[in-house]
Amino acid sequence: MIEAARAFQQHFGSPPLRLARAPGRVELLGNHTDYNQGLVMALAVDKFITVAGAPRADDTVEMVSTAFPTPARFSPDRLERDPTVPWADYPKGVLAQLREHGLALRGFNAAIHSTIPLGAGLSSSAALLVATALLVRKLYPYTLDATGRLVSLPPFSGEERPALDAAEKLALARLCQAAENRFVGVNCGLLDPISSLFGRARQVILIDCRDLAVDWTPFAPGFTVVVAHSGVRHALVAGEYNDRRATCEAAAAALGVAALREVSPELLEAKRSLLTPHQYECAVHVVGENDRVRRGATLLRAGDFDRFGQLLWQSHASSRDYFHNSCPELDTLVELARQHPACVGARLTGGGFGGATLNLVRNGAVEDFRAHLAAGYRSRTGRTMESWVCHVVDGAA
Ligand code: ADP
Ligand code: MG
Repeated sequence: MIEAARAFQQHFGSPPLRLARAPGRVELLGNHTDYNQGLVMALAVDKFITVAGAPRADDTVEMVSTAFPTPARFSPDRLERDPTVPWADYPKGVLAQLREHGLALRGFNAAIHSTIPLGAGLSSSAALLVATALLVRKLYPYTLDATGRLVSLPPFSGEERPALDAAEKLALARLCQAAENRFVGVNCGLLDPISSLFGRARQVILIDCRDLAVDWTPFAPGFTVVVAHSGVRHALVAGEYNDRRATCEAAAAALGVAALREVSPELLEAKRSLLTPHQYECAVHVVGENDRVRRGATLLRAGDFDRFGQLLWQSHASSRDYFHNSCPELDTLVELARQHPACVGARLTGGGFGGATLNLVRNGAVEDFRAHLAAGYRSRTGRTMESWVCHVVDGAA
């Protein structure tokens, strides 16, 4: 039995009516490019949040999670953050958005179960937002058009669901982003919910953050992604993040463009004198990442995975030497990955300043690679490293 359904039965004493499931995601290439209107490669991976639910006759929402001891109980008419059940801020944020969009939402019961590690760079928060939005869509049917306008639908009969088209997925991603930005108060991008919604099995998602165009290209057959967590999260991450964001914007303004996306490597060198050293270094990273994503898509399409892997090493070096969002622990993980013959590329993934690395490893040597990384990391840093084997899957449904 599906764990979320089991948890539902256990807590509420009856089986759920509907299930919704959203995968985690990982950034394959394209670091800090999203808010520069740039290019990103992401993968939806086989770690999921599943939400099981059933409507209630009254106007109460009751939610439980197998990851947290305290259930949340509230009225959909009074959605407020509650420091005693902070995890529920995420689903509440989605409900608040749906209400703001005009959904006639009544009560329901829901149970959450997740196989996405929290805070490991796989975006459990976006998966929770997306799964919640899709569960509500199954209990209180609605559609969203491309402009985000919500229309309530009559209850679906049987198991028939109108499939989400691309415009509705994008509108849902925006709604989830607004939930995290406005209700939870985390300044996240659209990348995470887009990746969770637009994923395709064995395909890399190519996201153009200027016009939010999404495309796909086959992921490297014969390779597996291993995400390795450093176990560190350096202090002042938010301040560093804000600094990089502001610096990228200032660099774009100094170069006379709307965003660093508009800048080619050649233009950056030609106009280098217009930038402060810090602005220049940040721009080198972002412009280089956009360029690597473009070249990476060509290499993936050509089946040249060894050269694709080279771009991952280069991406990490750029983070370390120019954007300064790596740290000794992440550098150690990438150095250890480089020693292993089955790894064709590794880099820090996500914001940086701690967190995780992504490793592209030949199938057949994955367990040996993980053991090598864990042993090396322990002997060099005294720290325990956790890693996850990730397969590329379809998006949320
Ligand atoms: P991540 O990088 O995994 O997205 P975040 O800090 O953005 O890390 O989000 C983690 C938060 O999402 C948790 O603190 C919790 O509030 C919520 N969350 C994640 N998984 C679950 C779950 N299984 N049940 C309830 N809440 C969850
Ligand atoms: Mg998150």
